[in-house]
Amino acid sequence: MDYKVLYRKYRPDNFSSIIGQDYMVSILKNAIKNDKISHAYIFSGPRGTGKTSTAKVFAKAINCLNPTDDGPCNNCESCIHFKENADIIEIDAASNNGVDEIREIINNIKLAPAYSKYKVYIIDEVHMLSTSAFNALLLTLEEPPKHVVFILATTNIEAVPITILSRCQRFDFHKISINDIMKRLNFVIENEKIDIDSDALEEMAYISDGGMRDALSILDQLSSTSEKITINDVIEHFGSVSKKQVDDLYNLILENNVDNFDNIMKKFKECAIDYKVLIKKLLEKIELEALKSKKERDYQGLTYQDLKEMAFELADISNYINVSIDPYLLIEITLLKYFNKETNFTSRTNQNISREINEQENEIKETPKNVVNKNKEDTTKIISQEIISAKNSYEELIKIRVNNCFVNAKKEYLQKVKDMWQNLLKKIEDKSLLNLLIDCNVVTASDQIAVLTNVVDGTTNLINSRLNDIETLFNKEYNNLYKFIALTENEWNKEKQVYINNLKNKQVYHYIEEPKSEEVVTNNIDNIEKIAYDIFDKEKIEIE
Ligand SMILES: [Zn+2]
Repeated sequence: MDYKVLYRKYRPDNFSSIIGQDYMVSILKNAIKNDKISHAYIFSGPRGTGKTSTAKVFAKAINCLNPTDDGPCNNCESCIHFKENADIIEIDAASNNGVDEIREIINNIKLAPAYSKYKVYIIDEVHMLSTSAFNALLLTLEEPPKHVVFILATTNIEAVPITILSRCQRFDFHKISINDIMKRLNFVIENEKIDIDSDALEEMAYISDGGMRDALSILDQLSSTSEKITINDVIEHFGSVSKKQVDDLYNLILENNVDNFDNIMKKFKECAIDYKVLIKKLLEKIELEALKSKKERDYQGLTYQDLKEMAFELADISNYINVSIDPYLLIEITLLKYFNKETNFTSRTNQNISREINEQENEIKETPKNVVNKNKEDTTKIISQEIISAKNSYEELIKIRVNNCFVNAKKEYLQKVKDMWQNLLKKIEDKSLLNLLIDCNVVTASDQIAVLTNVVDGTTNLINSRLNDIETLFNKEYNNLYKFIALTENEWNKEKQVYINNLKNKQVYHYIEEPKSEEVVTNNIDNIEKIAYDIFDKEKIEIE
């Protein structure tokens, strides 16, 4: 059977069938039109982007007896015998270091072409030539005869000596866009009568990463194994991730559905999907969402700030993910941070509710005193406490616990609690709770209370709403009725400054009654700075 692999069968035979390199093609076409053929070209760019194909179309076109606007006519003697034309010499520098071939070029270069107008030397992967081969090539490039054209191609332009580059006209080939690849694939499947779902086609274009040859090879492989190619075929064969899977992942973050999120990540690991593709697709999804967050008035996803942070963190881990023991775990941990975040939707809802409550309050104020509905007033207060200012409801508790912690905060307690805390995190089974606590720092501790900080405002409220759970777990693990309180890093910095000022003014801290009053324990304040350092665990403190 005369079966030709698709990428050979659909190799461009004129300029218009070269995909995605319009700029380069137009310059080459003009050169032919104006009869300004240079004696040396270098085509650089990623693999599969059409360098060799373009070189061949160009070589054919400059030798064609009846060239058209689209390059070679493909009908004349020269075009028909192009493949066996002894004047077209192809050298693959990757398969040998090329010294012999280059010597042969030097020996024969002066001889006029046997059949054509030009002798064309196409040297593929030219950066692989040995130093002596490069030197020999350089000599020929310095003073080539008029009838010779060199077309050098490389995937690694940096490895080509500058002396060579300076004698060539340089063309940089780019990765082919997904749209261009899809257009070409569509042409091929129609021609070959291949049955394929449109999302499977898009995925193929995606996986081929800008290389037309890879795209056609993928199509070749799948069309020989299945009747109708579906997205699942592509994903299973190439360890890819579908757009839908990435969308699902993002939505689970918004829904705070940690369990399903964890399941998907486990599945990715089982199927050994390409984690680099996953990161790339996540970044694209984030870009899309970030744009939406700026464009759409009622955008309901994560805030722009969170999206930006997420993008930077994913880009950061992609630098060392290759050497990571478990890349999937690294991605999962990075994304877990964005659960329980305030979304644009929730913050807007809160704003709406607070507006409603304000309106209700105004209404109450405007109602004559004697008809004020007492119940309505109470309800309003409860709602406002719960929703508008979840923060305020913890404000008092924060003040009391931070104060009480300062009464006998010591570095030894801090170190001890830090260790216990780290150990506790490993034992927390409730993923939503773990997720809340994973980014927390223990910043100061007494023998009874520890202060936690988190950068994100909304998170500290959520942590404080679960203090009971945290304290119960701590007690279960260490048999210790310890208390915690969480505040944002900004709030903590303010508290810290107040503490330092108080130390300076020799003001002592007294227990404020929360559960029960206790005797005041004071520190002997001899060295303010030393005490402050001890308590804040080497954090830099400026004492005025
Ligand atoms: Zn021709």
